[in-house]
Amino acid sequence: MTIRTRIAPSPTGDPHVGTAYIALFNYAFAKSQGGQFVLRIEDTDQVRSTAESEQLILDALRWLGLQWDEGPGCEGDCGPYRQSERSQIYQAHCERLLEDGHAFRCFCTPETLSTMRDAQVAAGQTPKYDGRCAELPAADVATRLAAGESHVIRMHVPNEGQCTFVDRLRGEITIPWAQVDMQVLMKTDGLPTYHLANVIDDHLMRITHVIRGEEWIPSAPKHQLLYQYFGWEMPELCHLPLLRNPDQSKLSKRKNPTSILYYRDQGYLPEAVLNYLGRMGWSMPDESERFSLDTMLSHFEIDRVSLGGPVFDIEKLTWLNGQWLTHALTDSEYLARLMEWGFTADFFKKVLPHLKSRIQVFSEASDWLMPLWQAKPHVTEAMFAETGLELETRLQVLQWTLWALESMPDFNRESVFHAVERVAAASELKLKAVMPMLFLALSGSTESISAFDLAVLLGPDRTRARIRHALEVQGGVSKKALKRLEKGYQAVLAVDKNRDSH
Ligand code: GLU
Repeated sequence: MTIRTRIAPSPTGDPHVGTAYIALFNYAFAKSQGGQFVLRIEDTDQVRSTAESEQLILDALRWLGLQWDEGPGCEGDCGPYRQSERSQIYQAHCERLLEDGHAFRCFCTPETLSTMRDAQVAAGQTPKYDGRCAELPAADVATRLAAGESHVIRMHVPNEGQCTFVDRLRGEITIPWAQVDMQVLMKTDGLPTYHLANVIDDHLMRITHVIRGEEWIPSAPKHQLLYQYFGWEMPELCHLPLLRNPDQSKLSKRKNPTSILYYRDQGYLPEAVLNYLGRMGWSMPDESERFSLDTMLSHFEIDRVSLGGPVFDIEKLTWLNGQWLTHALTDSEYLARLMEWGFTADFFKKVLPHLKSRIQVFSEASDWLMPLWQAKPHVTEAMFAETGLELETRLQVLQWTLWALESMPDFNRESVFHAVERVAAASELKLKAVMPMLFLALSGSTESISAFDLAVLLGPDRTRARIRHALEVQGGVSKKALKRLEKGYQAVLAVDKNRDSH
């Protein structure tokens, strides 16, 4: 049997380090045993999925060197590899479940479902679908269908007993069926949910081992049941522990940069990032710290993954990157990598419009470009104090700006401008009053190309990391202050609502 693993990201944002970590372990498991690694794009959420995000994921995996054997741009015999192009396959399979009595049409409206939920919560129960459409008489269903009533398709789930499945790292896991919802398989728009599409695709793409994050453990009973309904063999399951921040919380972009592109743009080597991810819950038999992907493959054993939450610590990654730079590259490789990182024609093409009207001799260029090459600007509290705002106001504006930038789907000049404008308005300050501080946070100087242009050139993650740094050098925001700021942030959100209602 050829081992086949897959990474199945949803293209709904920046390529996450968590995705890269899961991809690496899938890749290592397959490649260390002569198997194949498949990339499947799970874009059934039409509202949140974007083509740009998909492209960034492909770029990030390629940058890391985790090339897939089959997937977008690398067609094999199990395509298409984008779920949005497989609708007919899901529909046909869902029909089969209906015919065999494993699924049913549910006509409950969102209002009915929310009343059901409220009643269950009030009665101290865990909210779940109560099965009221599960036994509708066939004639009823036919009439409602003929009338074009909107509906979803749900799977039948046993009421009693428990489901036991095997996880390669954890052994047997048992979950009572009472905790498992009658999952929606097809939405009203005729598109499948993750569960249906994922099971069908893993089967049709001949995936032998499903290696994914532990947040999917609660979904395993539904998946196992679907495999049974279809009469298919289930791939072996292996749930990896989730990456954590040094404070043990789940890795999230609120605390640390989580986009692979951040690490690329900050000047980390892909080898070092992979090496570091390879040490998340796994280690070389001789405990060596610096190892290449090839070396990892020749020693890889998935059963040696430890389940304690692996901590993704940027300081350790930075140290390891330093080890790579110092010991692993020849001088010519070093130079090539350095040029590739920050001195390409593409880079200069991007900055040219900002440079052209500003300098008279090339030796002035670095004054303007330095912020783009720096890990972080050299700012101090005293520099921020000189911007004319009180400490409390500075922390408020910076923290609110950070939050406003976090929730932005598109990061461009207009959207960044709009975010800062809203924060200024909610702080009852003129834009002019907050700009010097923002300039300083992003560029480390009071003179720079426009802070908005700089933000776009830096990208969302590097921009946010600089704002976080500006907060830190000014003493940071205490937990108590954070709560107060969180409440006050409603005012920032309200700026938009007030505008929309005019
Ligand atoms: N699309 C899911 C995700 O984004 C895939 C989960 C799985 O690997 O089954 O994580």
